[in-house]
Amino acid sequence: MFRICVLIALLLSCAAALAEKADLVLRNASIYTVDASRSWAEAVAISGNRIIFVGRDSDVAPFIGKHTKLIDLEGRMVLPGFQDSHIHPITASLKSSMCDLSGLLSIAAYIEKISECVAENSDAEWIHGTGWSHELFSDDVQPTKTMLDAISSDVPLSMNSYDGHSLWANSKAMAIAGVDASTPDVPSGEIVRFAGTREPSGLFIEDHAQSMIMAVKPPYSAETVYAGLMEVQTYLNSLGITSVQDALVDIAVGGQYSILPTYKKASSQDELTLRVVGSLYWEPAKGMEQVADLLRARAENSSGLFQATTVKIWYDGVMHTRTSRLIEPYADRETDSGTSLVTPERLIELAIVLDGEGFQLHFHADGDLAIRESLNAVEAAIDANGRSDNRHHIAHLELIHPDDIPRFRELDVIANVQPMWSTYPPYIEDLIENKIGTERGRWLEINGSFLDHGVMVAYGSDWFVTSPNPMDLIEAAVTRIRPTMPLDIKRNSEPPLPGEEVNVIDAIASYTINGAFLNHQEETTGSIEVGKLADIVVLSENLFEVEPVRISETKVLLTIMDGKVVYDLLAVD
Ligand SMILES: [Zn+2]
Repeated sequence: MFRICVLIALLLSCAAALAEKADLVLRNASIYTVDASRSWAEAVAISGNRIIFVGRDSDVAPFIGKHTKLIDLEGRMVLPGFQDSHIHPITASLKSSMCDLSGLLSIAAYIEKISECVAENSDAEWIHGTGWSHELFSDDVQPTKTMLDAISSDVPLSMNSYDGHSLWANSKAMAIAGVDASTPDVPSGEIVRFAGTREPSGLFIEDHAQSMIMAVKPPYSAETVYAGLMEVQTYLNSLGITSVQDALVDIAVGGQYSILPTYKKASSQDELTLRVVGSLYWEPAKGMEQVADLLRARAENSSGLFQATTVKIWYDGVMHTRTSRLIEPYADRETDSGTSLVTPERLIELAIVLDGEGFQLHFHADGDLAIRESLNAVEAAIDANGRSDNRHHIAHLELIHPDDIPRFRELDVIANVQPMWSTYPPYIEDLIENKIGTERGRWLEINGSFLDHGVMVAYGSDWFVTSPNPMDLIEAAVTRIRPTMPLDIKRNSEPPLPGEEVNVIDAIASYTINGAFLNHQEETTGSIEVGKLADIVVLSENLFEVEPVRISETKVLLTIMDGKVVYDLLAVD
């Protein structure tokens, strides 16, 4: 017996001596691994960019060598890096170089801010802004070119709404774009005109209309955009984000933001600290000829941490401008059921072709009919091409018809949910009271019902529209109450859209392993397991122990991406 023991002891110490030594070991931690059995661990060892050990503190010793950095986390929570499945990082980063109207509370404040921007940039070729909200306007008082002309008639001005679905321009910008009373209406969306005339008022709704102005606006310089990406990825790392799907990557040469060449350059120079899947933009105004451009864009730009393997189909609009495409008309406009940027026939045609080419489709579908028709398009693609592993997903999903919920699972479509959108009372009240009524209102911004039907849910922030902070999104998903409100108000609030809350386990999965699955990276990321890439975050609180309305107070203390420390409040390096 004694001899057997000696033999075992020798073998164990031999194994210990042979074990690969880690560069970094996190121990005395509460590691929620998000593996298939949702297990917990105490220690994780990293060598290079790989995880080489996950388990008990008492078993990590063989992986600790002379040069291993050891961090005692004093019981803090460790999670896989967060994965945002619908975000606009570069556009968001450029907000600081725009005239930023976000958060202002009156039309007068908009006018004052735009006047300041003009005064501070008197020699600018063009001044572009963002962040205004339709809520401050009414049917009687709309944003007009007249308001902006009073600020400047010499400098072209264009101001995007906070959600990117409307553009407010002055006469100078419209003159440069050649837009006047003789300009024909657009196939979808609207060039808003003064009542009883053909004269454009200065408000442009949805892509066809907005792009008439944006096409002539001078693009941002390549240097500005690259600097924006460098800055924004540092910020996202500080929030614990290690992977994103950029929801709109314009492939036009010399386009406004030159997002595609920016990612390609950052990846090839090894300067990315995010894994990025780019959703290449299907331009609604163009036809099937653009498939060749998309194939070329994918082939020429996918390398390293950047993969341009998805196509973004911007199919309809948003509820509050009544551009979401609905089965039944808006409650306050009997003949208005919203719009679509491409026809349903074209949607089916492009889905079949792009699915056949191995692209993942990322639909923007907001209204119940838009969602139904997007599912129909995936169904048609399956009928034509057979079942693929392309993992198509539908984002936004503001209003769904309950009959369509189970179809996501049947068609292997992932629900790309924006949890913050369910939490804003005035916005929700306006939709229910004025635009869709209480019966349909039950099916606004669902989350839990998808899980009840076995549908995979991944989370996207849609930043620049809403907060990119995963702690905000997880709190919003769990409570359905707006995370940014004061604590005592949150504690005494009812969610504006109750009945769709999810638990912390599912919220974390939607932000980690499900995002990884959506991006075809679940074999290498999304959980903390031996052999996977080391994308890991350390949090100040354990999300399972903190009061749900305080989840958003949690801070990220350390972010590791691909084995490298990219954000560090623990003074590891
Ligand atoms: Zn978006």
